[in-house]
Amino acid sequence: MTRSPSTRNVALKTQEPSLILLEEVGGKGRGVFAGREFAAQEEVLEFLGNIVDVGALADLTHALQIGSREFLTASGDIDDYVNHSCSPNCGIRSVGERVILFALKHIAKNDEITFDYSTTQTGGYWSMQCQCGAPQCRGTIGDFRDLPASVQQHYINEHAILDYLLEELGVAPSKVSKAEYKSGRRSRKKPIPARNC
Ligand SMILES: [Zn+2]
Repeated sequence: MTRSPSTRNVALKTQEPSLILLEEVGGKGRGVFAGREFAAQEEVLEFLGNIVDVGALADLTHALQIGSREFLTASGDIDDYVNHSCSPNCGIRSVGERVILFALKHIAKNDEITFDYSTTQTGGYWSMQCQCGAPQCRGTIGDFRDLPASVQQHYINEHAILDYLLEELGVAPSKVSKAEYKSGRRSRKKPIPARNC
């Protein structure tokens, strides 16, 4: 979907100048838009935050599942506001310890940045009705295992899924090399604690 950012730009201090945060996106609340073109496979942003056990989270809003029980908390930056789509233009993947969003296809300036929330989820911690508006909208956002098999395979083929989920599924992590990524410019602003502390 191509959309002109007509609503006002939220004055959120972000370290990612190539992205634009808009306050209202067709009734969905805030959304993130491309401030420039992105090539397919290009890194769009990195998800930041602190790693916590799901039991320590009172509210999963803006939290991103990155392990069977581990979630990345809201960062307060623009990565908190990327909306879901059942027909997304971005995917999420692990690159070492980093969790990044990358372009699944060419993204034009002003396009909304979206990814499929189900590509991070397992354990039934969270689900919601979907109103993404895509022709192939599934109506519900839930666990990866609940996706149709063809959709699961699509995301696996695109390496648009986190490594922990690949391991749970018994699928070998992608052979996509780091050299194929166009690395982001910013570095993690908050150190991620070791997972066992
Ligand atoms: Zn949908």
